[in-house]
Amino acid sequence: MGNNDANLPKHANVVIIGGGIIGCSIAYHLGHMGCKDVVLLERDELTSGTTWHAAGLMVTFGSLSETSTEMRIYGRDLYSKLEAETGLTSGFTPIGFIEAASNRDRLEEYRRVAAFNRYCGVDVNEIGPDDIKKLFPLARTEDLMAGFYVKEDGRVNPVDGTVALAKGARNQGVSIFEKTPVKGITKKNGRVTGVITEQGEMTADVVVNCAGMWARQLGDAAGVNIPNQSTEHYYLITEEIDDIPKNMPVLEDPSHYGYYREEVGGLMIGLFEPKCAPWKLKTVPETFSFGEIEPDWDRMGPFLEKAMARVPITRELGIKKFFCGPESFTADLGPIIGEAPELKNYFVCAGLNSIGIIMGPGLGRMMAHWIMDGDPGVDITGFNIDRLHTYQNNVDYRAHRTVESLGKVYKCHYPFQSMETARGAKKSAIYDRLKDRGGIFQGCQRLGRGGLVCA
Ligand SMILES: Cc1cc2nc3c(=O)[nH]c(=O)nc-3n(C[C@H](O)[C@H](O)[C@H](O)COP(=O)(O)OP(=O)(O)OC[C@H]3O[C@@H](n4cnc5c(N)ncnc54)[C@H](O)[C@@H]3O)c2cc1C
Repeated sequence: MGNNDANLPKHANVVIIGGGIIGCSIAYHLGHMGCKDVVLLERDELTSGTTWHAAGLMVTFGSLSETSTEMRIYGRDLYSKLEAETGLTSGFTPIGFIEAASNRDRLEEYRRVAAFNRYCGVDVNEIGPDDIKKLFPLARTEDLMAGFYVKEDGRVNPVDGTVALAKGARNQGVSIFEKTPVKGITKKNGRVTGVITEQGEMTADVVVNCAGMWARQLGDAAGVNIPNQSTEHYYLITEEIDDIPKNMPVLEDPSHYGYYREEVGGLMIGLFEPKCAPWKLKTVPETFSFGEIEPDWDRMGPFLEKAMARVPITRELGIKKFFCGPESFTADLGPIIGEAPELKNYFVCAGLNSIGIIMGPGLGRMMAHWIMDGDPGVDITGFNIDRLHTYQNNVDYRAHRTVESLGKVYKCHYPFQSMETARGAKKSAIYDRLKDRGGIFQGCQRLGRGGLVCA
């Protein structure tokens, strides 16, 4: 996949660290914007971190952020066009997507989201339980109030999408080196000056940290605060179902902790449990490639049962694979993006909260603008790395907050709700006085699959 037979150059305009969906998308967009002197360095093989095992949902519904929704639409379009450009398919299939509302609160929430998403250009329609049944005959729908259906959404193959972006990048002159871990960063007078590899030092005008769940420790080594945390994240694949309709849309029912789609003749059930488990709080192993985590059946059992109850036939089937892989989550479910306040020309794009495939193309384009023009070109208030604090990087804070982050994705989102864990980690000088006088302490609310209210 890479071009490791060539020698690593001594200098590049931009060095990208990490060959997952994010690094490859930034490389692709920099190449297309005319930045030819770009080198991507990947520790092992492209996609070997988190990208290879993503479920591949490519969904535009769900965010209350204009920036995020526009990026999703752009991503869906780009995935569908990559084959014509590169000769490699991303595997994008517009099978459709349904968000199921099972009670009045969720119905209210999704109606608001739908109205906003329509304003942003997403063609989303409210449908009834009978329509859901017609589109997804395996689901139990009697207890559902409505579904929110986006016909043009669907699924993508994350490995194929990444490799197609990498090919598109190389066609524009970007060099990609696999088996080339970055061991350190060089800096001078508050600016990054390059990277250190096993082949020696390579100077660079700009360095971009797209190292996924390794981004935090790579940032630590350069004095840059990137408080993302890897967590256990699950899906299962059932044995084959006779005559399963191949064109069923993706169905998501957050009240049952699950999303559902066809996979190799069986059903994939993806899970977002209300309380999740952080993985490797201190250090993510440098050699973890195409890796899996031993599933915790006891912890996940009750959520699995509830998820299977939405599609009853799954309870009669064997489980072909119960998969657990690590994904990075952040304190507020916003990604960590932008130029590091601590180090000039050191950019970060990490902490994707389980929507890296959905957001990868849009984030890559935005990062390329930021690097080339000095401006992201869109409102990135809720994404910007400069919103985060060093106290959010300590093990104790991450251990507590991460338990809540992933679970928040599938909770019903009420206005003015704050995160509940890791409160009081940092108090202002007047905290006690405010509390004594009845002060209420609130953070900023996020919505749904990484949708940001405030960006
Ligand atoms: C079970 C599961 C299901 C998911 N389903 C979906 C989904 O349906 N839709 C969706 O949008 N998202 C989904 N995701 C999330 C998605 O997979 C991630 O958000 C995305 O892959 C993150 O991409 P990345 O490029 O940031 O990280 P990665 O893919 O981990 O890439 C980072 C790369 O950096 C490299 N690297 C690390 N350190 C160094 C170094 N020092 N030097 C050089 N290279 C280095 C790594 O080897 C790795 O290849 C899912 C995740 C999981 C776990």
